[in-house]
Amino acid sequence: MTEAVSVKKLTHFINGELVEGKSRSYSKVYNPSTGEVIAEVPIATAEETREAIAAAKAAFPAWRDLSVAKRAEVLMRFRYLITENMDQLLDTICTESGKTLEDARGEVTRALESVDLAIGAPHLVKGEYSVNVGGQINAYSAKYPLGVVAAISPFNFPIMVPLAQTSMAIAVGNAVILKASEKVPMTSLFVSELWKKAGLPDGIWTVVNGSKDAVNELLENPTVQAISFVGSTPVAKYIYETGAKYGKRVTALGGGKNNMVVMPDADLEQVANAFIGAAYGAASQRCMAISTIVPVGEETADRLVAILKDKISKLKVGSYTEEGTDFGPVISKESKESILKAIDLAEQQGATVVNDGREVDIVKNSEGFFVGPTLLDNVTKEMDICDQEVFGPARNVVRVGSLSEAIDFINDQELANGVTIFTNDGAAARKFTTEIDVGMVGVNVPIPIPVGYHNFAGFKGSRFGEGHMFGPDQARFFTKTKTVSERWPGTTETTASTFAFPSND
Ligand code: NAD
Repeated sequence: MTEAVSVKKLTHFINGELVEGKSRSYSKVYNPSTGEVIAEVPIATAEETREAIAAAKAAFPAWRDLSVAKRAEVLMRFRYLITENMDQLLDTICTESGKTLEDARGEVTRALESVDLAIGAPHLVKGEYSVNVGGQINAYSAKYPLGVVAAISPFNFPIMVPLAQTSMAIAVGNAVILKASEKVPMTSLFVSELWKKAGLPDGIWTVVNGSKDAVNELLENPTVQAISFVGSTPVAKYIYETGAKYGKRVTALGGGKNNMVVMPDADLEQVANAFIGAAYGAASQRCMAISTIVPVGEETADRLVAILKDKISKLKVGSYTEEGTDFGPVISKESKESILKAIDLAEQQGATVVNDGREVDIVKNSEGFFVGPTLLDNVTKEMDICDQEVFGPARNVVRVGSLSEAIDFINDQELANGVTIFTNDGAAARKFTTEIDVGMVGVNVPIPIPVGYHNFAGFKGSRFGEGHMFGPDQARFFTKTKTVSERWPGTTETTASTFAFPSND
């Protein structure tokens, strides 16, 4: 792996300023397409994280007290700045994540949906009001911000996930601390400057770079009221359990192992195109990527695998700077090695290698972290690759005899983020959407990722806690409902003390 000539030293973003790390501990940031080190990101200590939390706490009351409409104005300016700075933003995302330009553009579009939803926060935080609930008393329930809240993000969506986790939190009046992924910190720092230019007061948006120490401080510090986590399942579970132990509101979204069921009546040419995009796009590094195709019936499976084999052999893996690249590298050398190992193991355990991504030239000859598109047929429940999330382009075919068998196979799995069915049969689709125990379901839609104004979350091992990412639920998650009962002197006659439980008699 080559070290670039000038390696940029990155910072945190605390109290409205880019701030150097004090720890002297740095983590390397790579360009996954070349294997070069392009930057070093500071790893925050618990003490630095505490200082950032204190600055956020001090900034919170003034932001809370600003009208929702004024807060929304800042978000509108922020949205405009994202579109104004699109080229630089896309370049930053592609360089540190390895995504293709087209994919990064799609991600930014999705990030903007979260900002759009947050601009509508005034509507989402409207309360409830009842008059004369008893003895000239009026009662209202209103949503108040929580205070300082934290978001911890994964590497695979450098802008979409952080903004999905934070835009609404800011709009409803909280001060947010983002612990960005140490693998893609440059995008969050770039976004920090846009928030500043948009007029967001210092301390309301903070980026603390780092890893475990910073995260543990966010989990344990009593000032932090809520944690929104997105990442792998083992870490999500840890975050949920630890956050709950320290009395915090936590939503922790984990990994996915998403299935695409193909009924015999589906148009297999169309299915193959849908599968390839959903399965291999972004080098399969999406929590909603299709991992496994589940054809119903041997004939469907044989025909589908033949079509897939031909199409997959024509995919182009390369850098985002190369014309015609279908997908880029995976995020790191370690990730590449673990994906190649998973393919080796699946083969040893009896899977049939239909397309072998280990044998693609760029995989063997480049310093970049490339893995070619791999399709494994005859995968069964006994194989490790069947239910473990492989965050890279090794995809499975699991053959089943009936729709019921497909549903049982999927419902037995621990990860339950997304799923889809391809069919022209309404009854089959209805049975599937009713019986399937998965959070986000598609019918003839390859990646059923909800749009920004619908709630997003999986079930079982794909989500710990009750909140959603995206959607109106964000406004609920980042606010607390206070109920006020009020009576004004002079509207009623003075009454003597009463010791009975308050009632409206
Ligand atoms: P990760 O779990 O390794 O890291 C996520 C975040 O947690 C990072 O900020 C990281 O620094 C931090 N972290 C890692 N280990 C930690 C530890 N032991 N203690 C405290 N903090 C820790 O995930 P990743 O590799 O960055 O991202 C890929 C994963 O995220 C995949 O599993 C993918 O499916 C999942 N993901 C899920 C969704 C969803 O909506 N469900 C969306 C995107 C990604």
